[in-house]
Formats: sequence, C-alpha cells, structure tokens
Amino acid sequence: MPLQPSNLREALRSISDPDSEKDIVTAGMVRDIQIDGDDIALEIALNTSEPSLHQKMREQIEAAIRATAQTSEEIVAAVSVTFTIDTRSANERVHDSGNPLPNVKKIIAVGAGKGGVGKSTIATTLAVGLARQGAKVGLLDGDIYGPSMPTMLGLHREESKAEDGFLLPFEVHGIQAMTIGKLVEPDKALIWRGPRAHSAFNQLATQTKWGELDYLIVDLPPGTGDVPLSLAQLLPLSGAVIVCTPQVVAQDDARRAVRMFQQLGVPILGLVENMSYFVADDGKEYDIFGRGGGEQMASDMNLAYLGGIPIHPDMRISADTGEPLRNWEITDTMSVALDTVCENLAKAVSSTTDERPTLSIN
Ligand code: ADP
Repeated sequence: MPLQPSNLREALRSISDPDSEKDIVTAGMVRDIQIDGDDIALEIALNTSEPSLHQKMREQIEAAIRATAQTSEEIVAAVSVTFTIDTRSANERVHDSGNPLPNVKKIIAVGAGKGGVGKSTIATTLAVGLARQGAKVGLLDGDIYGPSMPTMLGLHREESKAEDGFLLPFEVHGIQAMTIGKLVEPDKALIWRGPRAHSAFNQLATQTKWGELDYLIVDLPPGTGDVPLSLAQLLPLSGAVIVCTPQVVAQDDARRAVRMFQQLGVPILGLVENMSYFVADDGKEYDIFGRGGGEQMASDMNLAYLGGIPIHPDMRISADTGEPLRNWEITDTMSVALDTVCENLAKAVSSTTDERPTLSIN
C-alpha cells in the first residue's frame, strides 16, 4: 500500500519532544504532512529556534520516514521539513487544545516555595471557603509526595469508590475531593519521581469523575518540581495562588515559585500570607514572624495580595481532626480573614480571561 499521511504520523510517534517528553504527535507538534509523488513535506511546530535542535529533529524525522518507507517497500525521494516556531507557554498550548475536564470552569493551582508554610491548609480553606460562599468546588490533592488531605479532610472515615473506570470524588464539607493518599499507602507515593509522578498526577486529575464545578483547587507539592510542570501541560489553569509566611527568609523560595508559574504561562492570581500574626485572647495582635512581608513581596513583584491569615493553635487542631469548616468558628478576626482571602480570590479569577494571545513566527 502506498504511503499515507496516517502511516507517517504513526512513524513520527517514535520521536519525542525534548520539552514535554511526549512523542511529537501527541504533543501536537506535527502540523502538516504532504505527499507529492515520491516527495514528502512536513510542517513541525517547535518552541525554539535553536539550529542544533532543528538539525537533530530533521535527522530523526527523515530516518523515521525512510524506515517506514523501507518496511512498506515504497520509494521516498526528498523529505523536507519546515519548522514553525511556536513560542506559546505550556499553559497557553493547553488552553488552545481544549479542557480535558469540561465540567470544570476554573482551575486554580495552590503552590508554595517550600513545605510547612501552610499551603495545604490554605488550599483546603480556599476550597471550603468558596463553597461556603455558594460556589461548587473540587479539591485535588496534587501533593503526591506527601498528601495531607486524608487527614485535613478527615477522609479516613470515607471509602474509595469507582464507577465506569473513574474514581468518584469524596463528598465532604460541602466540596468534592480527591487525593492519592486514599489510593496508595502514603510511604509508597513518596518515592515517585519524574515520569511516574507525572503519570500518577495525570490519572488522579483526569480519571476522577468531577461533577459540575465552578472551581477546582489543586494543592501542589512545595517547590518547583515535576508536578507543577505536569499540571501546566495537562490542564488549562486560570492561575496560581502562592502561599508564603511573612519572614524574609521564606520569600526567596516564594519568588522562585512565582517565577516558575510565570515561565509556564500561568498567571499569578495573588499571594496569601499565612501565619501572618497572632491574635491573643484579649484581642491584641502580635506580629510574630514580621507581618507584612508577603504583602511587601507581592507589591515588589507587582502581584495581587489576597490577604493574611493569622496563626492560631485551633487552626492546627482543625487540620489534625479533619474539620476545616471549624476554622470559621475560631475567632471573628480569623473568620473575616478567611472570607476576605476567598472573596479576593474569586474576584481575581473573574478578572482573568482564559483567552490567551498566541504568537507564531515562521
Ligand atoms: P504545607 O502544605 O505548606 O506543607 P500545611 O498546610 O501542611 O503546610 O501546614 C503545616 C502545619 O502548620 C500543619 O500542622 C497545619 O495545621 C499548621 N498550620 C497551617 N497554617 C496555620 C495557621 N494559620 N495557624 C496555625 N497552624 C497552622
């Protein structure tokens, strides 16, 4: 049978995109294949104009095509490859190729420069807080190296269920939630790195049967590792929230997290300063860690400041006992602080547009 574009497309699956580690067909880089007699012309989209990469890719493509021709005993004369330079960020490309979670309106990542700043606490609080304000909310525990949602949401009382090959989210505290911590033993999840982390995260996000959601909040592992990259390549994010504590020493890490999201093309919706200050029983406020550091950093980096959450022992207790809604009963100051952050986030999300400009240079 003479060569068809479909055979050639299959042959090109043997070549991987150095950026996403997907094959170039799955990564959507093969724009066009034309067969004119014995000559073949291809158009490939790349996000770099680096000549050495073009040369390498050209050689791999030609070798794959000639090998397929040889197997089918067909003659190929010239193979010409034209590169289109696609400078869109990972997240812009995902926005353009469609949402794998069509039931979900806005997807928001929650990240932090380092562990222990209260990222999972804030992600949980944002999820239940937005639900308290009337939104339909999902919470995905993407912290696959150290999932804390089983404890923070009290999921040990719940059983994992599946339907039609999909995981059913846990319906708790007015939200839908999913965590790897209920599917594998937590000490096993800790050893996943690279492609295994990528694939575990993808499965968790896309094989959960989310209902109609206004927001899906994704709690990411701390730092700038594999999972944020997987997320930005997989789901069209409306933006990211960065959690930090007020100390100056915590801010270098937070800045790195901000830059990572910006490089992936994910807008920063704003910064939350956790453990911002302590309110004593007499109502007096103490700035233990230097309140205002987060707000200052947000202003220096031209980012929105979503608000500060006080430190309070009962906040730790409600996380340990899996009762996030009890945070609203701690003190009036706490309840106002939590609602303010949620309202500011909802405003920040509604002012983002998911339409991204695209730039293609030949
Ligand atoms: P991360 O996700 O950044 O590693 P966690 O959300 O797991 O951090 O929080 C670390 C610890 O700090 C947890 O025990 C949590 O209950 C506690 N914590 C977080 N925020 C507060 C707060 N505002 N007040 C008191 N304890 C808090």
